[in-house]
Amino acid sequence: NSLDLLNELETQVSKNKLKNQVKVIKTGCFGFCKMGPIIAVHPGDVFYCLVEKEDIKEIVEKHLKEGIVVDRLLYKDEQTGDRIKQRSNIHFFQAQNRVVLRNCGLISPEDIAEYIAVDGYFALADVLMNKAPQDVIKLIEASGLRGRGGGGFPVGKKWSIAAAATGDKKYVVCNADEGDPGAFMDRSILEGDPHSVIEAMAIAGYCIGAQQGYIYIRAEYPIAIDRLEKAIDQARNNGLLGSNILDTGFGFDLDLRLGAGAFVCGEETALLRSAAGQRGEPRPRPPYPAQCGLWGMPTLLNNVETFANIPLILRYGPEWYSSMGTQGSKGTKVFSLAGKVNNTGLIEVPMGTTLRTIVFDIGGGIPQGREFKAVQTGGPSGGCIPAELLDTPIDYESLKEKGSMMGSGGLIVMDETDCMVDIARFYLHFSQDESCGQCTPCRVGTKRMLELLERITKGKGQMEDLETLEELGAEIKDASLCGLGMTAPNPVISTLHYFKDEYIAHIKDKK
Ligand code: SF4
Repeated sequence: NSLDLLNELETQVSKNKLKNQVKVIKTGCFGFCKMGPIIAVHPGDVFYCLVEKEDIKEIVEKHLKEGIVVDRLLYKDEQTGDRIKQRSNIHFFQAQNRVVLRNCGLISPEDIAEYIAVDGYFALADVLMNKAPQDVIKLIEASGLRGRGGGGFPVGKKWSIAAAATGDKKYVVCNADEGDPGAFMDRSILEGDPHSVIEAMAIAGYCIGAQQGYIYIRAEYPIAIDRLEKAIDQARNNGLLGSNILDTGFGFDLDLRLGAGAFVCGEETALLRSAAGQRGEPRPRPPYPAQCGLWGMPTLLNNVETFANIPLILRYGPEWYSSMGTQGSKGTKVFSLAGKVNNTGLIEVPMGTTLRTIVFDIGGGIPQGREFKAVQTGGPSGGCIPAELLDTPIDYESLKEKGSMMGSGGLIVMDETDCMVDIARFYLHFSQDESCGQCTPCRVGTKRMLELLERITKGKGQMEDLETLEELGAEIKDASLCGLGMTAPNPVISTLHYFKDEYIAHIKDKK
């Protein structure tokens, strides 16, 4: 694995007496999963792919010692067959706009000096020394940034509600409870660039008047947790967290709260209960967390990607940020691209990029020359979008119109061999399993829908079952307490809408 490669690299560097000239650093993910393990050599941005332990000696002896690039390990362009030397010239990266992911794969996430060297903590210092909280909130509002956790609520508006709320204390909380199957955006940001989130949370604390923040992160993310802990310690030791940040008199500190993996704890009210040590169950809203959140106090809750955008918006201005994206959805969006697609990985594109560009241009199309069938966006809460809608631009409203949703950014591609009824059953099974059981439509309704789907996929379904599925889906969406139940039927409803013939085939062919 990559750690073996790292050890071998350090051994070879020291064996070749290069320790004074070469610094070996462990970065976060480059996003090009298909080509990993990857070694990048700077200066020069030389990008070695699919590196094996046996290749390390050659990289060190030829490239690092003699300056000769090892051609056979460079990325091979699938169209032209040419070897491409630099990451910046590889189409997978050229076709993206890496704003949030700018530092992932570039800096060491375990060294605050490297973050500072790429303008890290500049925005925090500037805000604390030169700007009033309400002016910072106005800049966030002007950028048009919307919450990246799924709902798309305007971030500046949320911050201004939390700033106006009154309470003995206030809190800033980061939702890092990424639970969608196949989604790894937040994990990669935290593993690759933890300081960007820490910096943003301190800025948020200043804006709303909070002195304490918490990052609620799944315990299944040990590397992200380890890097966050190190980053928080380094920020404290450098006067960037604590009781008197940069001698400005403003105090803000951070702590982690580990989640035990319940999907429903990604829902904001359940998350806040769990972070406070209670059972992680959603509660009715209002009151919203901005007025009554953690321990009953006003709480600003945003997710990892939302926070990671903040330092850059303040560094380069809201006009720069809002120049990317569409009228209603500004900026970029990070997606984890998975399933039946050639270039699986983590990508970032401007809002408004079409699904076709993502799947066929950046993603490199479908393996083995097979036909594209659908793409699932929004995880278990989203829907499946068919081939005829591949030109749909990715933004909050367009995806909703097509019966799906942005969600947090999971994108799973299906090909002609996938059965869409099985796909719907998989997602519904996930949601049913993760239902907290508090309200009947979600607890019992999803169970009944699942039974119907199982009957259909076993060839024992009847045509009336399709109508029942639709009716039950509508009722569950209508009557559930939280987002999990309200969106659980989406994969079934969307596949019934776009792929009804596959349901009918199961019923008619009795298989
Ligand atoms: Fe729990 Fe489902 Fe009700 Fe949400 S909708 S509170 S997950 S039972």
